[in-house]
Amino acid sequence: MSAPHDRTHARDDATRMHELAPEMMAMVDRVIDYSRRRLIFDDVPLDKPLPLRELRRLAPGSITEEGIGSQRAISMFENVLAPACVSIDHPSYLAFIPSAPSKASIAFDLVVSASSVYGGSWLEGSGAVYAENEVLAMLAREFGLPESAGGVFMQGGTIGNLSALVAARDAHRRALTAAGRPHPARLAVVCSEESHSSVASAADIMDVEIITTPMDETGRLGGEAVAPILEEHGDAVFCVVATAGSTNLGLVDRLDSIAALKDRHDFWFHVDGAYGLAAALLPELRDRFAGLEHADSLIVDPHKWLFAPFDACALIYRDPELARRAHTQRAGYLDTLEGDDWNPSDYGVQLTRRARGLPLWFSLATYGIGAYRDAIRRGVETAHAVADLVHEREELELVCEPELSVVAFRRLGWDLDDYQSWSDRLLDEQLGFVTPSSHRGAPITRFAVVNPRSTPEIITGILDTMR
Ligand SMILES: *Cc1c(COP(=O)(O)O)cnc(C)c1O
Repeated sequence: MSAPHDRTHARDDATRMHELAPEMMAMVDRVIDYSRRRLIFDDVPLDKPLPLRELRRLAPGSITEEGIGSQRAISMFENVLAPACVSIDHPSYLAFIPSAPSKASIAFDLVVSASSVYGGSWLEGSGAVYAENEVLAMLAREFGLPESAGGVFMQGGTIGNLSALVAARDAHRRALTAAGRPHPARLAVVCSEESHSSVASAADIMDVEIITTPMDETGRLGGEAVAPILEEHGDAVFCVVATAGSTNLGLVDRLDSIAALKDRHDFWFHVDGAYGLAAALLPELRDRFAGLEHADSLIVDPHKWLFAPFDACALIYRDPELARRAHTQRAGYLDTLEGDDWNPSDYGVQLTRRARGLPLWFSLATYGIGAYRDAIRRGVETAHAVADLVHEREELELVCEPELSVVAFRRLGWDLDDYQSWSDRLLDEQLGFVTPSSHRGAPITRFAVVNPRSTPEIITGILDTMR
């Protein structure tokens, strides 16, 4: 024990976590070393989860009064904890929506961490906020939104969708009040059966109704399904959510036919493109997203198909002022921030925020938008090549032709248990991470191709295990 008032004592207990003692330098080297190895390692294992009792056995007692020291802690991470996490960036990770951060974005994530940037306000983080906004402005331009569009990088699509819907509801209520119209007892958001689960979750949190519409025969939401709902529910509907790249099948709703309804109805048009909007950067696919330019808000997750690390969702509003009115937190201690150039915390459900758009900014600045188009295009090409393989195999059947980079298909004769045990075996044998899904109540499976290094050869190897 050191005496706190002993000035001759070299070590101050209260500051020992913040000082540059020699063991601190060794700790930093250890951590940077590990990060560097993981970042440049080209043959990362896929890895797999361990049961809780195994982890309890292999990694016991890390949290103690005195600490176990950085050496033991990082070796516990490297040898036990990290291998118990599936490598999302592995080319054989094809489940859900993968993530495949660019080398520059991962490297810069370390810089963001080292820099202690507060990304919530201009006062504290103007340089970072400026750079993030450069990225949002580029995306807004690509998506056809006006120059005045703007937004914020949120934690993920779930919070992005919630924030957009809260802004939509606020704008709707203000418009009703301004027009002297009565406020309906219960408000509603319209979306399709294929909308992401986070839309229903947001409606739940907001205590608003959710009206799900059937899709057209191609599996997309179109204006003809939305129009009668707008007729029937009138002022109760404050928002229509379209999906640009559904999570399960990768289909893009018919945005233009929904946007066209704005001529006759007042509603906020939100486009959930968490996964798929990245493909709007491809000129050859741009017409699939016609109507996007009429969106009042949209999201796209850089941690999905824009090659950024977890976690980041770009949330962009056509008229950011409407979002600011809904989201600005008010308190005496925050008044000093008012009137600054751009406070990101005013545009979503958050206050303190990591400048989580910076890894994408650095990577875009480093490689240029063209590199992104090339990498996204590779995913689309691979998905089409894999769809051809599925066509060729008689035991397999496509659910639909891939539109972006999801290939959804059936193994004829398999029930859900068959898919599950196949999926378990794939991971067990480290051949791939592909999980069962369902479509219209029947089991299917799917590859979501995001990683440009997920080659048709790798996927052929996985298809071979379904014979
Ligand atoms: C992934 C996804 C979301 C949710 O995003 P998170 O970042 O996981 O919260 C929302 N919508 C769509 C279409 C998605 O694919």
